[in-house]
Amino acid sequence: MKRWLNLSLEDLRTLMETIGQPAHRANQIWTWVWTKFVTDIQKMTDLPQKWRDELSQDLVLLPLRLVDTLEEDESIKLLFQTMDGHHIETVILKQDEATEETEDPKKRLTLCLSSQVGCPLGCVFCATGKIGFARNLEVDEILGQVILAEQVLQNHPHLFGLSLPSQRKISNLVFMGMGEPFLNWENVQKAIRILTSPKGYGIGYRHITISTAGILEGIHKLTEWNQPIRLAVSLHSPFRMGRERLMPISKTNPLDDLMMALREYQDHTGRRITFEYTVIAGINDRREDAEGLRKLLFPFKYLFNIIPYNPVEGIEWETPSPGRIKTFLRFLDEVGISATLRKSRGRKIAAGCGQLGLIWKNREVKL
Ligand code: SAH
Ligand code: SF4
Repeated sequence: MKRWLNLSLEDLRTLMETIGQPAHRANQIWTWVWTKFVTDIQKMTDLPQKWRDELSQDLVLLPLRLVDTLEEDESIKLLFQTMDGHHIETVILKQDEATEETEDPKKRLTLCLSSQVGCPLGCVFCATGKIGFARNLEVDEILGQVILAEQVLQNHPHLFGLSLPSQRKISNLVFMGMGEPFLNWENVQKAIRILTSPKGYGIGYRHITISTAGILEGIHKLTEWNQPIRLAVSLHSPFRMGRERLMPISKTNPLDDLMMALREYQDHTGRRITFEYTVIAGINDRREDAEGLRKLLFPFKYLFNIIPYNPVEGIEWETPSPGRIKTFLRFLDEVGISATLRKSRGRKIAAGCGQLGLIWKNREVKL
């Protein structure tokens, strides 16, 4: 089985030569895939018919199959099956304020991507963490989510009232779906290189966000890479103990070291960091939490997003009431933190990023 989408354009050109094809065949395939989102080799009409027939036997450009969609006004959740029978999820979100400012919000669609099947980090409030971990996603499985989402948007332009003439409908990519992107960094990085290739999909690094639970090694690597990718850090508590309770990974990637790695990142890149803060009633929404956050964050340039906890089956915790969220926002304001409340969009279908794994599981779709 050939999996050519794992290759960069350069590598695909080299491969063409080794199999006795002219190198420009690679560009032809690349153009079909990345500007027209055509992944059926038979539809690539400028390739010789005989070669298309041959390739159709054992070439897989798209290693994912769309098995279900769930739609709500502001988001569409897509369920994919991998070739070895696992399930992963991707969410198309209208105007995700997590990725902030820049262009006209009306034109923005954000795609929330998965990087792993499940997640090994087991944060106690997270649906994905609860299901466990199967494996890392391959490069073409990461890319396949983008291509399939574009195909869905192309085939159903009414979904978001889109009438954009451009081929690419998605303007922002966020690695906030299933999994921890820094634990699959090699593949995520390779996928990002392909997605940003000006000859192909051509999305800008600035429109890509990596969200991490605070993997130090990953932050160091991103600092070194020095591309203008956005970094989002899931914080959830300003206290070492509080954080360890919510996120077991912070025992081996402690809060102090995380803050040091982030300082280094910011000193080096000058880029603003987005902090994600899932608010759980009575756990991390107290005045002392706001006070702790002030002490922790004052040296940084940052955006602060709060996400009301979305209930996960089998976990006792509660979503703070609207009044309680308002009070926490006031606490934050009093200590000088201007927070953005991320709408609980997609609540019904559990399509808020980080909420993946839940609904399908109830339908007994296996990981
Ligand atoms: N593993 C990465 C990216 C995926 S999780 C990370 O942890 O950052 C994406 C976001 O969803 C994280 O900020 C996570 O804390 C949040 N999240 C997870 N479960 C949630 C829940 N039940 N309610 C609200 N937000 C949740
Ligand atoms: Fe993994 Fe992120 Fe969920 Fe934690 S919040 S279990 S790191 S996906």
